[in-house]
Amino acid sequence: MLFLELAETFKEMETTSSRLALTQFLVALLKKTPVNIIDKIVYLIQGKLGPDHSSKELGIAEKIVTRSLSLVTGVSLNDIQLEYNKIGDLGDVAFSLKYNKTQSTLFQEPLTVEKVFDTLIKIANTSGPGSLDLKIRYITSMLNNSSSLEAKYLLKLVLGNLRLGIANYTLIDAIALSFTGNKENRRILENAFNLSSDLGNIARILAKGSLNDVQLISVSLFVPVRPMLAERAADSREALKKMRGECLAEYKIDGERVQIHKKGKQIELFTRSLENITFHFPEIVKMFADQSANNFIAEGEVVAINPDNLRYLPFQSLMKRRRKHQIQQAMETYPVLLNLFDLLYYDGQDTMGFAFFKRRGLLENIFGNIKNERLKLVDQIKASNIEEIEKFMTKALRNGCEGLMLKDPNSRYRAGAREWAWIKLKKEYSGTISDSVDLVILGALYGKGRRVGKYGALLLGSYSKIDDTFYTICKVGTGFKDNVLATLYDKLSKLIIHKKHPRVEAGALPMDVWFEPSIVLEIVTAEITLSPVYTTGRNTIKPGYGFALRFPKFTGNVREDKSPEDSTTVNEVLQIYRNQLKQ
Ligand code: ATP
Repeated sequence: MLFLELAETFKEMETTSSRLALTQFLVALLKKTPVNIIDKIVYLIQGKLGPDHSSKELGIAEKIVTRSLSLVTGVSLNDIQLEYNKIGDLGDVAFSLKYNKTQSTLFQEPLTVEKVFDTLIKIANTSGPGSLDLKIRYITSMLNNSSSLEAKYLLKLVLGNLRLGIANYTLIDAIALSFTGNKENRRILENAFNLSSDLGNIARILAKGSLNDVQLISVSLFVPVRPMLAERAADSREALKKMRGECLAEYKIDGERVQIHKKGKQIELFTRSLENITFHFPEIVKMFADQSANNFIAEGEVVAINPDNLRYLPFQSLMKRRRKHQIQQAMETYPVLLNLFDLLYYDGQDTMGFAFFKRRGLLENIFGNIKNERLKLVDQIKASNIEEIEKFMTKALRNGCEGLMLKDPNSRYRAGAREWAWIKLKKEYSGTISDSVDLVILGALYGKGRRVGKYGALLLGSYSKIDDTFYTICKVGTGFKDNVLATLYDKLSKLIIHKKHPRVEAGALPMDVWFEPSIVLEIVTAEITLSPVYTTGRNTIKPGYGFALRFPKFTGNVREDKSPEDSTTVNEVLQIYRNQLKQ
């Protein structure tokens, strides 16, 4: 398949402002893609080289691209830099510069998708001495064979800047439509995706075979499962009612969720957004290496601790472990403890279908006798009345936890689902302050006074998985310390898009700048109100009105562990609104 066909579709996608049109472009593209490269096309559409958990990242340094571009076009490095300063994207610079000089002489053989994909893999795998020259050679060889439109998207891919913003659920819809003609089959694909986290593979299996083949996709070691999530209740009374009067209550620990995969000597750790973080926690790897338990997938919450009294420290302390260098030193300065809470796979068997009490029983059999003060099973009690829950809540808060997780003892593990089988109860629920929400930045207004030239207010949105769309909910301008604002400004500058993103529903709201949805902020608010301005939950309670946050404030916590699709959902906002009415 010619890379030009892909570049032309990218161009069309970039100019559309409707999600429906985006899906249609995707369907047309998938339908004309040869089956043997369908997975590659699926990855490239998302600017990737494979599924998140196992592929190398693109994102070559700008100076390598600038030098390649200079070599191919004959334009000086300086002039390219000037043009880049003006336009702000090297792909767009290539489009404007390239074939003025070289089009006729250097056009050699047509560039294919296969060739581009394989070369991108080679580039991503090249490291060490001499790698700079080699990368330049790979890039120039592709540029020499490309038209200006191809060069534009080639460079955006190489730089990791494609930014079409096509997320998993839009792609799932498009794959379902392309190969089964029916969007309803999305559920089957979603299920397979929750277990295997690899849309390229799912598309390939479906294009070659049938839906039945997709249904056969099951959990496997070293492929992270998308995590089961929790609903939120107004208070313990409502939570217990939802649990039909009996639950297993656990500490809700303010750390980071890890999924541990072990077979033989191989041990890997994944985050809730499926990132491989094995490298960051050598002591956890060692803990499991020392265990006889083998061949399993378990889940737990890793939390930073004060080594003197083993008390849990807040999430921010744990984030200090997310660094690229001096891991050994960080390990000593910020020690951690792992609380195991679930078992998804054991000894060749998928255990996700087992009732939760049985999975916990297995966890106890396997890890219960471990003599290691840094590895334990999460504290748990069986509770069947409110007093028991509240007493346990007090104990949890005293021990530095966020609150409790209540779990239905008979529920199976539902990968990727947020359902009432798990309910989170945080301390804020019992007081008057609403719970925090995690919202994605969609746009901004320029500031006045001290903030001139910077953003004065950020437009935030919630997420709906049903239509893979972000809905506006508030503008926030308070809670930002100057240093955080400066870092955010730099990050946001790279996400600017020339018009509202097609997956954003903003009504007629005017904005100075729009961003590709990417950064998630933790926000507290006094109350959720109804508003004619914002689109979250519009028409749910009252025609023409959506939900808005009153007096929203940034907590200072950028949720780097969350992708935009992990933001608080429209449904959750509705739930919080309803909970509020009960209080
Ligand atoms: P929050 O922002 O409240 O942490 P979240 O959106 O990150 O929520 P939720 O589904 O709302 O995720 O809450 C579940 C999260 O709580 C899990 O992903 C996990 O990281 C954490 N957690 C802490 N203790 C437990 C526990 N005992 N069982 C399950 N998850 C736990």
